[in-house]
Amino acid sequence: MSLIVAKFGGTSVASTERIRNVAKRLVKMKQEGHDVVAVVSAMGKSTDELVAMAAAVNENPPAREMDRLLSTGEQVSMTLLAMAIDALGVLAMSFTGRQAGIRTDEAHEKAKIVSIDAERIMSAVNDGKIAVIAGFQGIDANGEMTTLGRGGSDTTAVAVAYGLNADECQIFSDVEGVFTADPRVCPHAKKLDEISYDDMLELSSAGSGVLQMRAVEFARKYNVVIHSRSAFSDKPGTLVKEASMEKAVVTGIAHDTSEVKVTVRSIPDVYGVAAALFTGLAQAQVSVDMIIQNLSNDGLADISFTCPGKDLGRAQEALKKLMPEIGAREFGVDEDIAKVSLVGTGMKSSPGVAAKAFSTLAENEINILAISTSPIRLSVVVRNSQAVDAVRCLHTAFGLDADEVFEETMLSAEEIAAKMAKGR
Ligand code: ASP
Ligand code: MG
Repeated sequence: MSLIVAKFGGTSVASTERIRNVAKRLVKMKQEGHDVVAVVSAMGKSTDELVAMAAAVNENPPAREMDRLLSTGEQVSMTLLAMAIDALGVLAMSFTGRQAGIRTDEAHEKAKIVSIDAERIMSAVNDGKIAVIAGFQGIDANGEMTTLGRGGSDTTAVAVAYGLNADECQIFSDVEGVFTADPRVCPHAKKLDEISYDDMLELSSAGSGVLQMRAVEFARKYNVVIHSRSAFSDKPGTLVKEASMEKAVVTGIAHDTSEVKVTVRSIPDVYGVAAALFTGLAQAQVSVDMIIQNLSNDGLADISFTCPGKDLGRAQEALKKLMPEIGAREFGVDEDIAKVSLVGTGMKSSPGVAAKAFSTLAENEINILAISTSPIRLSVVVRNSQAVDAVRCLHTAFGLDADEVFEETMLSAEEIAAKMAKGR
């Protein structure tokens, strides 16, 4: 008999009807002879709604209260799912993070799991029950509720699979697995049967929303194989696991429209200025991504950086204070950008990837605003309006196009524009 951990994301449990479908699926697994532990996200967009309510009563809600609030979302879905399973005549029992023995550090809103005490879960499973665990939450050493960062239920699933020594960790969502590009914008994208942890980590950090980055990090560290698959079909999805022998040069292309570019102009070109600028931004909790410095002739420099759009307010506040300190003239913000990233472990050993990517973009009249690289990733910043074109032409140029086109997922031009709009 094997033990399966099955995680269902917000879309999969967005309505009571969908929760009943998830219950059926879990009961089927159970009837096929498996032990089953489910992990759930909050229903639909309910976490976003809780965040909005908090913002309406306090611009800067205390982190402890925020975690108590956000953890309620998963408690709704876990209890409803346990009830739905019970209605099908199968024993089920729901557990909060605390009850499931998920211990974390004390970093509210971005806690890390430090250990799992699986005793209660295993005893429920041994009693023939389907255990349903609230994702995204845990408890710190002081007994305080914590949450694991947005999308954190994926991490709960991987950690629980590891803690229970499960045979499988299946993560169900509204997509069929990991694709060579987002099939909603790139109709030729194809589903990967498997992907290495390293490639998946880069794709997640470059904007692919299929799996939370931390969950992939955890899986890599403890060698947990993740099966990313659709909650709405029985088709096999993508296995995320240690690299196999065969490596494509480029595994996939991710795009991210959530970043903004800030340019600080006319800064004296002397040592210590970058240190002061980025120390100030770090203190203001701004996650800086790319950095570009341009030198001018008159001993002044411009420094541009990109950061998540949600950090922009904090960046502007910090810059207002920093400008006089570093002697800069002014700063400007460009929100009309998108980052497109090529990812592939095979890039390490193939020269010419950048040249080919830049030529492809040039042939398609797409201007590059910034560039950054790692051994297995090449990212460019382009105009937001050209991001879809950039993804598509690079996808073709690097031989990723599938023979079949995703007709049913193709969006109209308006839908794409809406999707690419900020703050989606
Ligand atoms: N409900 C949480 C969120 O929306 C956690 C999750 O869905 O994984 O971020
Ligand atoms: Mg998710």
